[in-house]
Amino acid sequence: MIEERALQLQHCMYQYSRAIYRSIKDLIDPYADWETQIESRREVLFACEQTMERLAKDPLYFAKPDRALFQDIRRYFPITAQAEVAWAVQQGVNAAVEFIEEQIEAGALDGGVARCRATTRKGKPCQRTPLPDRDYCPSHQHLEARAAA
Ligand SMILES: [Zn+2]
Repeated sequence: MIEERALQLQHCMYQYSRAIYRSIKDLIDPYADWETQIESRREVLFACEQTMERLAKDPLYFAKPDRALFQDIRRYFPITAQAEVAWAVQQGVNAAVEFIEEQIEAGALDGGVARCRATTRKGKPCQRTPLPDRDYCPSHQHLEARAAA
């Protein structure tokens, strides 16, 4: 179940990085020679993917991901396109950040969100959200009573 979610998340992040790339790829320096343009496109796509990957792995500690991505790729665009690229990157990254935040809230991601302290019968940590002000989820709350006793 957790692995399924991770795969799904990866897929979504891939969609976001493609969307950002698509929104800016035609702004890449059109006066550069063809080979340079191809190379630039590859670099830009790679930077988008790297940013989305890092965002998925480290959503709470990746400060200003849109600015970070823009800094990484701005050199591939002419001066006249910089503002448009910055805007597109901001829109695209913000959409991805919002999506990730929703996932964290829904408990699909471990973003420092509290987890039940119990281990399941299979020996894996319980992934459920604890009861308010408690260390255990509803199905494991009997463990808390035992620890207190
Ligand atoms: Zn539990």
